[in-house]
Amino acid sequence: MLKVKNLTFQYDKIPVLQNISFNVDKGENIAIIGESGSGKSTLLKLLYGEYDLNKGQIFWNSEEILGPKYNLVVGYDFMKQVTQEFDLMPFTSVEENIGKHLSNFFPEEKKVRTAELIGVVQLTAFAKTKVKLLSGGQKQRVALARAIAKQPEIILLDEPFSHIDNFKKQSLRRNLFKYLKKHKISCVVATHDKDDVLGYADQMIVLDKATIAAKDTPEKLYNNPEAPLIASFFGEFNVINDEIIYAYQLKVVPESDLKAIVKQCYFKGTHYLIESELNGEALFFENPSEVKNNTLISLEITKFGQQ
Ligand code: ADP
Ligand code: MG
Repeated sequence: MLKVKNLTFQYDKIPVLQNISFNVDKGENIAIIGESGSGKSTLLKLLYGEYDLNKGQIFWNSEEILGPKYNLVVGYDFMKQVTQEFDLMPFTSVEENIGKHLSNFFPEEKKVRTAELIGVVQLTAFAKTKVKLLSGGQKQRVALARAIAKQPEIILLDEPFSHIDNFKKQSLRRNLFKYLKKHKISCVVATHDKDDVLGYADQMIVLDKATIAAKDTPEKLYNNPEAPLIASFFGEFNVINDEIIYAYQLKVVPESDLKAIVKQCYFKGTHYLIESELNGEALFFENPSEVKNNTLISLEITKFGQQ
């Protein structure tokens, strides 16, 4: 189990993280979300022991994770990380990059295992290709496979799918998180993409103003976002009478007191997102069909589970 206790850290004068505490159980998937610059990458680096804490402690089971001041070689065998920089060997093949961390004593097993990992990140056709010839997204996939190659007990992923195109993203994400669950590998994922969180994360930590603004299951935070920051992570929303109302919770009805004028329609595949205006302010709602600009519509707030 990973235990983070009262972690406080600053690069210079301004604290980046203050009094951060949380645990990660074996096999648990924790998502760290927050705006750009909120300290997600810094937190992952601290968990890895890249910097010395100003205050607090981090433990993996009974072992304390120490920064460079107390630890000559940064990093631990039970922990792997995929940073935003990848650090691959450019002049060797995908296969060799991934197999590098596997034992040569069992060549047959090594071959099977390397092939399995290449399969997880869907790079089988590129097994023999030199890494420097790959695209950014492909490199990121090699870095992911290499990180799980040695069966770490915990893996730290910093925006793991940020370079991967939409064609591959969904299946890769499913493959990777399924693999981690199956092998009970704990994981901490820093992300700004709700799709990395919903359906995968057991807990979600929201970083804001150097502290944990919220921590709960994605479902609870989605259904009851206590702050606009949390709602904005999940989708388009409005604040009506001090209450956060997602766009999908507003429904067009024949008649109501909530009237708005349609300003713009956006096709979203399963629905249209409609920007309207109420008392001079933008109001967003979803509708199955297009609505003409300048139409006056009546809206009703539908709560969860109601139609
Ligand atoms: P995120 O990953 O959420 O975008 P970061 O952890 O990268 O956020 O950055 C948090 C804050 O720390 C930002 O204000 C950033 O400018 C600052 N920061 C990040 N890395 C360094 C560094 N090596 N030296 C000084 N300040 C840094
Ligand atoms: Mg970052």
